Amino acid sequence: MKKVMLLVVDGLAPEYFQKDTAPHLFRLAQESGFYKTVLGAMPSVTNVNHACILSGKWPEETGVVGNYYYNPITQEEGFIEERGFMKAKMLLQEYGENHGTTAFFTVKGKVLGVYGEGADIGMSAQDPDQKLIRKYGLDMPPAVDSLDSTRWILEAAYRCIEKDSPDLVYCTTNDYAFHHFAPGTIEAVQQVRTVDAYMAEIAKLEPQRQIYITADHGMNQKTRIVHFQNIAQKAGFSVYCLPPLKDRYIENHIYQEGGMLYVFLKQKQQAEAFYQFAQKEPYVQQILTKEAAAEQYHLPIDQIGDYVLLTEKNSAFGECEPDILYTQASRTHGSLFEREVPLLAIHPEREKEAYQYSKDIVKYLFKDK
Ligand SMILES: [Zn+2]
Repeated sequence: MKKVMLLVVDGLAPEYFQKDTAPHLFRLAQESGFYKTVLGAMPSVTNVNHACILSGKWPEETGVVGNYYYNPITQEEGFIEERGFMKAKMLLQEYGENHGTTAFFTVKGKVLGVYGEGADIGMSAQDPDQKLIRKYGLDMPPAVDSLDSTRWILEAAYRCIEKDSPDLVYCTTNDYAFHHFAPGTIEAVQQVRTVDAYMAEIAKLEPQRQIYITADHGMNQKTRIVHFQNIAQKAGFSVYCLPPLKDRYIENHIYQEGGMLYVFLKQKQQAEAFYQFAQKEPYVQQILTKEAAAEQYHLPIDQIGDYVLLTEKNSAFGECEPDILYTQASRTHGSLFEREVPLLAIHPEREKEAYQYSKDIVKYLFKDK
């Protein structure tokens, strides 16, 4: 099997990843690959995009539409943290079927839980495998929500490649750094330099390995947080609002704030009035019926409520007090404005023009594509 490494740097907006912050990688890309920006899937949140990147498919086939699920019939809800949510075949499984060896490295434990199925080597910084720590001579990992967790997971991937050289290596970080630090800050620059240094070393270790570096979503400063559920209810609408970005890592978004919302109407006769109401709200960039959203963003129609709302660039939907909160303390994602992500490739499978979406990386690596 082809030797491939795919690094998904969580929250790496293109503004962070530039020639001056990643000089080694940009030189390698110039010599034997390319750099461009591509589009991720909507909503621009972690789980949705890991599913698409790992399978080369849209959410309508992966079935993953967020970090959190809600079933309007049973009213069951909860975090997506286990296997069974992912419906599409992943490249990891294809490698397994063809006797290729695979390794999966992630800072967040839930990512290994949801997507790590079938990986020969699986490691999360959150809940590390002690046998692997000893085997690769690693220190104990730092906290998930720390700047150092990126270095640690890349060190683990480096040592694994050095010792075992798995055919397929998938590695992903945590977006703590980019939720907290804007492009150009010392901390953000240092994060990208760490990625640059480690990935250049991996390229040196195995000069023939295909290497792809991309992100699950971008990141932007938000100054207005909107508790849409409260606002809609006060306006007389009976709704359940599901933020696809809602997760347990509240260090990163304390109001669970994000740029997209699935709205379930409890009284279907309110549909037209609700549409008229929501589209007039100043923080709404776009309101789509589930049919339109499913078509435009390739989403599974039965999992996205009755309406899909998207914010304008400076706003996010969240669970805040008061219902509209103005703040300088939020950097987050989920909207159309965080959909663009970098793609840097070394020895890519196809020419630069063939890659339009981040999911295309894996699409071209499947045997029957
Ligand atoms: Zn993310």
